[in-house]
Amino acid sequence: MQFNGVLANLKTYEAGKPIELVVREYGIEAKDVIKLASNENPRGCSPKVIEAVRAEAVHMNRYPDDSMYELKESLAKKYHVEDKNIIIGSGSDQVIEIAIHAKANANTKVLMAGITFAMYEIYALQTGAKVLRTPSAQHNLKEMLEIYKANKDISIIMLCIPNNPLGECLDAKDVYAFLDQIDKETLVVVDAAYLEYARFKDPVKNIDAQELITKYPNAIYTGTFSKAYGLGGMRCGYGIAQPEIIQTFLKLRAPFNITNLTLKAAIVALSDEAFMDASVKENFEQMSAYEAFAKELGFKVIESYTNFIVLEFDASKNSGAIAQKLMEKGIIVRNLGSYGMNAIRVTIGTPEQNARFFELFKTIYM
Ligand SMILES: *Cc1c(COP(=O)(O)O)cnc(C)c1O
Repeated sequence: MQFNGVLANLKTYEAGKPIELVVREYGIEAKDVIKLASNENPRGCSPKVIEAVRAEAVHMNRYPDDSMYELKESLAKKYHVEDKNIIIGSGSDQVIEIAIHAKANANTKVLMAGITFAMYEIYALQTGAKVLRTPSAQHNLKEMLEIYKANKDISIIMLCIPNNPLGECLDAKDVYAFLDQIDKETLVVVDAAYLEYARFKDPVKNIDAQELITKYPNAIYTGTFSKAYGLGGMRCGYGIAQPEIIQTFLKLRAPFNITNLTLKAAIVALSDEAFMDASVKENFEQMSAYEAFAKELGFKVIESYTNFIVLEFDASKNSGAIAQKLMEKGIIVRNLGSYGMNAIRVTIGTPEQNARFFELFKTIYM
């Protein structure tokens, strides 16, 4: 069968391995499997969310409120913007998909960092657009600007702040100085999926969504409930931009794209920021244990502003083999071999999970 030609060379996104797979393949009981592969919140979500979703379940015969009024109101209040500045997606992934599909086509290019969130490329290639990457793996705004100035047909720039899968984070002032140089016809996506973590670690990383879109009407800020809020399974994210952008994006949004349970979960999660704050704080306490562990064993880490950390090995070790051996013992991490790195990405777990990781890792690394 003939399909849209751009699909021929497209790869399917490979998600982090699910716990069920390790149970099936290695005969380890589900309760003993530790998943540190998808940057989920190991503490779960706010108990208030669970209670509210339970109560909401009796309404699942009804379609959700497609205007998403209450969630937009909550987000508008948090970010000091208005409903008309907000689009809700089934994960911020869906907002990113809409953004790229709205701006990119076969005659345009999409610019991104050397190593960044894999979905950017997939969404770009779906439109037939060409992907341009900086030579540096981490975000390098000087290189981005050079590429931008040398190519007149870049329709969209993806900034992952902080960056998944590497963990580094740009300073807000540098992002603004970069945006000063970008034409207002070029859409700039500020993917802030982990910004709750970065702004806690260092306030100079914080990008205020309202300030961003006021100064730069060609920018969109995307956020998610999947990481610090612990709601990856509920699929809820959002974009904040000027109404002109939002109105156009809404033309690409499927009706009822998130469920009424998801709406409820997100609204209640925003009312319990204390849970999120505690998760972020514990994350960095635990991250210092990983940094100390790396020092002890003599390998490098990339300084991280997120809820994961990249462990980099020298040529005497192989990251794929390490990830495989960990999985056979019940710990799922992400091998970064496919990015041309000899490294693994480990989501920061609970203190107990991390202690188990250190213990197992030592037995296979030595
Ligand atoms: C996790 C993640 C997202 C969004 O995930 P959703 O679950 O779709 O909200 C977006 N960008 C990056 C870089 C991520 O790591």
